[in-house]
Formats: sequence, structure tokens, C-alpha cells
Amino acid sequence: MIRITELRLPVDHAPEAVEAAILKRLNLPAKDLISFEVFKRSYDARKNVALSFIYTVDLSVKNEEAILKQFDGDIHIRPSPDTSYHFKAKAPESIAAGKSLRPVVIGFGPCGIFAALVLAQMGFKPIVLERGKKVRERTQDTWGLWRKNVLNPESNVQFGEGGAGTFSDGKLWSQIKDPKFYGRKVINEFVKAGAPAEILYVAKPHIGTFRLVGVVEKMRQEIIELGGEIRFSQKVIGFDIQNEQITGVKIEGHEDLPATHVVLALGHSARDTFHALHEAGVFMEAKPFSVGFRIEHPQSLIDKARLGPHAGNELIGAADYKLVHHAKNGRSVYSFCMCPGGTVVAASSEPNRVVTNGMSQYSRNERNANAGIVVGITPDDFPGGPLAGIEFQRTLESKAFELGGGTYEAPGQLVGDFLEGKASTEFGSVLPSYKPGVHLTDLAQSLPAYAIEAIREALPVFEKQIKGFSMKDAVLTGVETRTSSPLRIPRGPNFQSLNIKGLYPAGEGAGYAGGILSAGVDGIKVAEALALDYLSK
Ligand code: FAD
Repeated sequence: MIRITELRLPVDHAPEAVEAAILKRLNLPAKDLISFEVFKRSYDARKNVALSFIYTVDLSVKNEEAILKQFDGDIHIRPSPDTSYHFKAKAPESIAAGKSLRPVVIGFGPCGIFAALVLAQMGFKPIVLERGKKVRERTQDTWGLWRKNVLNPESNVQFGEGGAGTFSDGKLWSQIKDPKFYGRKVINEFVKAGAPAEILYVAKPHIGTFRLVGVVEKMRQEIIELGGEIRFSQKVIGFDIQNEQITGVKIEGHEDLPATHVVLALGHSARDTFHALHEAGVFMEAKPFSVGFRIEHPQSLIDKARLGPHAGNELIGAADYKLVHHAKNGRSVYSFCMCPGGTVVAASSEPNRVVTNGMSQYSRNERNANAGIVVGITPDDFPGGPLAGIEFQRTLESKAFELGGGTYEAPGQLVGDFLEGKASTEFGSVLPSYKPGVHLTDLAQSLPAYAIEAIREALPVFEKQIKGFSMKDAVLTGVETRTSSPLRIPRGPNFQSLNIKGLYPAGEGAGYAGGILSAGVDGIKVAEALALDYLSK
């Protein structure tokens, strides 16, 4: 196959124009082009150039070698890399015969889903333990908080089938290094399970929340058809360890499950499970994370600032942004998990605590853009050992609950008032989207003083990049505390815990991923390492 990069076409081109552009670029007669597929499509929306799509295409041609030779030295015409996935192992007969213990995966978020899927595809018939409910039942519980102010601590935005990213923007890109194209395997599996095919090639793919629900159900189905099992409402509450080897897990209200290979795909909110692991003596350490607010602006303002004359063009959709500022007090302030045309959501998993995050539908056509505006913190800010970051988060989340009026409404403030240091009393032109509601107050009390100071400095700086960013009516909603895990469960080159054999810390909760795609990729890597260890015994 040959890969052509940087093939530019106007955004409103006819479908057949891609083929014509390929033939022209290679000076090739149509009969010599056997087939082609679009590998990636991004857009160039700089204000001073015509709006264009930029394609990377892979093609099969007659006389491939001769063509590559003809374009030798042209960096945009090269052999295509092999992006297909190759399984690393095949399960031993003893698994199918029921004579060996099956691997156990704790958690059915993106990391656990991909660990279980790949293990199942290799024939390992994994057993998945998920504390929450099936995704549709979970959706009802999640809406319970958003619509009726009722939180179910075991079934919510963080816990349940699909994991934390189910009610999300479904952004599927990541900055991880991925030389083996595991990310491609993740995307391919999503498409196989019903995600829109365009996520295979658009530069910043996203699925949106409703579509993710169906995708997760189909992936569950495949794992079951391959002999895996997914046990819902089964919370792991303890770990059996003998001679530094995992021997089983304790499940609330159920018999202990013996196991020699256990994947910990817990996510960053499994605070009780982190405590149980700590008690069991599993090595862990505090790590940096970030805290801050969500900010909401009219999406039209962001579109105009980012896309200028191209704002509102349906072919490129709602605009996003990414901002960073290094404040004078040494703190970094940055935008996190930006959701174009989306909503701010209640993302708590513990009673009497408030946490924000963002989500959107595939269409991204809600009136507001939202993003976290967060400040980096390190274990020096929360001394006290591996679990101290959890207590730090809890203190902020409890304070936010109190400032929000004690009803799961989130505390909020207009940007203008925040910058002037006075409590807000009424909304202006921007109406917040957070449900069950936003209670106006003074957010200065909701975060440490250094974070407030850094955000106050950053907002006017961001205004220089996005005109209107510090508009006085933009709304801040607090607090954003679960940007990543507050701890890491370190693992060795064999992907196992540094001191407990057979235990595989994985995904975001263990500090090895940040986002849906990277969590899925980590799940695949862990599944491979686990399978190879299994076969080596
Ligand atoms: P999780 O998805 O958190 O899954 C962990 C699972 O483990 C959960 O289902 C939990 O119930 C289960 N579990 C925990 N403890 C136990 C136990 N003791 N026993 C049994 N089961 C247990 N990322 C993106 O890339 N794009 C986005 O657009 C995006 N938007 C987001 C929006 C929201 C509202 C949220 C909350 C997150 C968003 N994220 C997004 C982040 C993304 O969801 C996470 O990075 C990702 O889900 C991490 O995957 P994971 O599998 O490691 O953990």
C-alpha cells in the first residue's frame, strides 16, 4: 500500500474529488488505482486561507514499487505502515476445559472493556467484576442526580458499565506515543460495535454520549459470546494475597473469587478500593493532578474566535480550544476536556459532594461551549502519603456541596464577578447548563488561594487568544477535582504491581491513562502482558 499525506481539497468538494486528486498527484491512469481508503482527514481553517480538508490516504495500485521509486524523496508519498492488530497469544486448552483459573478484570470502563475484549478474543474467557449496573439502568440512576438531586453512590457518572467516559463528549484522541497503533485497534473495535465510521479518519474523532451507550452494549455482547462473563453490581472490597502473589478477590455480598491474574481497571474515583489496596500492602504513591472550575461561553463566541469567517460551517462543526498559562505564582493553568456544544454535568460519586465535568452529544449543538479551567497541583500541596490526594479532593468537593446550598446544585459565579472578587447574584447572557442547577456565590472560597490567584491571572490572558473568553457573563461552575487519579499504583516492565505478582494496575485509576482512548490502549497492553505471563507458567 502507498500512503499519500497532505492532499488538500476544498471542504465542499464532491465525493469523487478525492480519487481524482490521488490520480492527479501520482499522475496515474484510473485503471492503475485498485482501491483507496481515507486514513485521516483534518481541516485547515486559518482565517486568511480558503477552508480546506487535508487528507491522508492509503492506496493499493498496480506497479506499487515503481511508483514508490518514482516519488522517492517525496515525504508525502511513502509506503503505508501496517496499522493492523496482531494477537500476541492464544489461551491454553486448560482455560477452555475449565481446568485453569480465568483472569479477572475489575472495572468495566474503557480500560477494563479493552482488557476483557482482547483477553476474550485470545480465548481467555475473562471474568469481569463491575460494581455498577448495566449501562441503561445506570443511565436512569445518573439522571436521578441530574433531574431529582438523588445520588446513587454505586451507579452514577463514575461507576457502572462503560466507566467514567460513558456520559461524556466521547472525544477519542490522545497524545500518547502509539508506535504499535493500538489506538487504531480501539477505534476499529468501536466502529465494529456501531460507532460512526468517520471516527476512523477524522483528526479529532468523537462519539458523543448516546452513541457510546449502544457501543458499550455491543462490546459486552462480544465478550460474552467469546466465553467471557460480566458480573454487574459486584464490588471488590478486598484482596487475598499470599507470599506476595494475588490469590483472589473479596466481593461485597458474594463468595471470594480465587484468581492468580487480576487486572485493576478501577478508574480514578474508586477511593474505597484504593484504601483496600493500601491496606493489603500494595505499593502506591501520590501523584500530581489538577483542580479548578468549568467555564461556559456561548459556542458561537468560540466558533467566531477560532474559525473567523468559517464559523458555523456545518462541514467542520463546533470549534474547540486548548489553552495554557504559566502563572506568576508558579502554577500552570490550562483548559481540560473541552466540550464544544455540550453541557456541564454533575459527576459526583460520593454523598454530599459536588464535582463537575463536561459532556456532549454527537451533534455538539447545545448553545454553550464548556471546558475545565484547572490548576496543576502536586503532592507537596497535599502531604500525607499515597491517599492524601483523595482527602484533598474530598475537602474541596464537600465545600462545593456546601457553597452550592447543600442540594447537589453546584456553586457558580460570573467571570466578571470572579475577577472583581465579589459574589454573583444573577445570571447575565450566559445561562449555565449544569443540572440540577447552579447556585450563585463567591467561588474564591472553593479552591486554595494559589489556585484562585492563578485562574484570575489566566482568564484575561486567555482573552488574548479567544476574544470574549473573559467576558463578564461567562459562567464558572465548581469544582473540577477529578481531572486524573490522585495516585499511581506503580508497575514493572511486566505490567504487574511492583510488589504483588499477578496484580495488573491499569488505566486511569492506576495512573497509566488519561482519557477513553489511552485507557483502552492501556487495557490492550495489560491484556497482552497478562496472557504472556499466563502462558509462561
Ligand atoms: P473508568 O472509566 O473510571 O472505569 C472504571 C470502572 O471500574 C468503573 O466502571 C467503576 O464502576 C469500576 N470499579 C471501580 N471500583 C470497583 C470495584 N471495587 N469493584 C468493581 N468495579 C469497580 N475522556 C476522553 O477521552 N474523552 C472525553 O470526552 C471524556 N469526557 C469525560 C466526561 C466525563 C463526565 C467524565 C467523568 C470523564 C470523561 N473522560 C473523557 C475521561 C474518561 O472517561 C476516563 O479517562 C476513562 O473512562 C478512564 O477509563 P478507565 O477504564 O481507566 O476507568
